[in-house]
Amino acid sequence: MKLDIPTRRRSCITCEAAFLPQSICFSTLYKEKGNYLRKDFCNSCWEQLQKEEKNSIFWKGMILAKPDDALKEIKKSREEKALELFKRTFQTEDLPKLFVLALYLARRRMLISRQETKEETLYEFWETGEMFAVPSVPLNHLQIDALQQAIAADLAHEHNT
Ligand SMILES: [Zn+2]
Repeated sequence: MKLDIPTRRRSCITCEAAFLPQSICFSTLYKEKGNYLRKDFCNSCWEQLQKEEKNSIFWKGMILAKPDDALKEIKKSREEKALELFKRTFQTEDLPKLFVLALYLARRRMLISRQETKEETLYEFWETGEMFAVPSVPLNHLQIDALQQAIAADLAHEHNT
């Protein structure tokens, strides 16, 4: 499964001002002929934007400072490992696993739900602006529990290698 949703641009699409750490960015996303089109605006260009354009799906994001590697823990957090697993799973057809991983990462605030429809949820990874469309999978509690256990086992295994 590979859905092409563009990642956040490095600069405003209108004035080309670079998105600096701690700045606010406004993003719109809409579907045209089956493709996702994304535009990212700086605060001032957003204010001058036409109303119609603002009506497409949009959200306001905060650009975060890049984490300082020296300060970063050597051990990857459980959330980071889960995110890596999510990205790997995204390349496969294992939709139930992908669905449950996305729920976990959203609860942990690693992924932000930007739009939800019956068919899918659009998630953004807050740090890079990467987008992921995760199809909805009807699962009962027992199935979710079983998948969560399998994922926990996967993550524990990664820890040992
Ligand atoms: Zn601008």
